[in-house]
Amino acid sequence: MAGRPAVHGIRTRYSLRMSRPLRAEIHAEALAANLGQVRRCSPGARIWAVVKALGYGHGLEAVVRGLGQADGLALVEFDTAARLRQLDYAGPILMLEGPFDGQDVALACRHDLQLVIHTSEQIEWLEQHAVMRPVWIKVDTGMHRLGFDLQDVLPALERIQVLQARGKVGQAGLMTHFANADLPGGAHDALMRWERLRSTLPATCASWPVSLANSAAVIDGIVPVSDWVRPGIMLYGASPFAYGGPGAADRSALSLGLRPVMCLRSQLIATRLLAAGEAIGYGSQFVAPHAMRVGVVACGYADGYPRHAPTGTPVLVAGQRTRIVGRVSMDMITVDLASLPDAQVGSEVELWGETVSVDEVAHAAGTIGYELLCAVSPRVPRVFV
Ligand SMILES: *Cc1c(COP(=O)(O)O)cnc(C)c1O
Repeated sequence: MAGRPAVHGIRTRYSLRMSRPLRAEIHAEALAANLGQVRRCSPGARIWAVVKALGYGHGLEAVVRGLGQADGLALVEFDTAARLRQLDYAGPILMLEGPFDGQDVALACRHDLQLVIHTSEQIEWLEQHAVMRPVWIKVDTGMHRLGFDLQDVLPALERIQVLQARGKVGQAGLMTHFANADLPGGAHDALMRWERLRSTLPATCASWPVSLANSAAVIDGIVPVSDWVRPGIMLYGASPFAYGGPGAADRSALSLGLRPVMCLRSQLIATRLLAAGEAIGYGSQFVAPHAMRVGVVACGYADGYPRHAPTGTPVLVAGQRTRIVGRVSMDMITVDLASLPDAQVGSEVELWGETVSVDEVAHAAGTIGYELLCAVSPRVPRVFV
């Protein structure tokens, strides 16, 4: 492996040997391929590639290398948005939670950031600090998290129109976010509310761009019209649909035509023989039912591997599927080598990626692929392959 890999987009100039074998291999061309899949699913729509949490844990460099062809980038962190500008990203940037205070409005002006607006406090900040950038009024269609209640949308957009007339804000748009787009028919009620709202808006808003649709809605094609879609997880090659849920077989990332972007790889750093009745790891949770070989992998919960992953969670060792055994520790996991007589110190391990999907590991650990990808910790080098 040549040189020190880039970590979160920050390149070190000098070359250091990477000793701990754990790394997150990033396939930037898979990001671009998944973006192509979004385009096929939503013809004619423009794409905000959602890159919050440093590109769902893949790192900013992955974003810049793999998602440059998106029509814009959407995130929630202002420091990261400023960093994208420093990295010479010149395309549109959308701040999905809008400003957190008045200073963010000034930042948005300086760095040419578009702002989601979901509270009347944020409109006050716009009144105090001219932003002269596009804003998106967020409407609550049932998530009940961020967004104006339906009856408060009209007063909010009237205030925005006043600001537009005074040259304080740029183009305005309307957006909403679905709570249940990953469930069959789950976006139906939200879409009904959205359409009802749109029919009550003044004609002056008819030409405003609208933005709907996360990955699940993009894949299902349930959105009649969205000028801008906002896919996140599908870009990274994981499925927005529950693993093992209804109709799960044809909803896996693979069957949706998505390619995994991150491959979390490490190696065996030790192998052991357990006698029948001997336990392994903290709490002695796994007891060998018969004499068996086990391996120790350099990857633990401090790297982002889920501590709750139970015995049985799939893992690939030396190209063959096996399972983890015993508790996940901070820096290590232990794996069953009973069917892998040739596995030895230095054998390659895939925690998730090409063969064992992140969704599969997440399911075993009682969570979703999103969480695992975002949780890969900064100490894991991101390596471009
Ligand atoms: C995170 C996010 C998305 C992307 O959702 P995915 O399920 O990852 O596609 C879209 N819109 C908003 C407002 C978000 O916060």
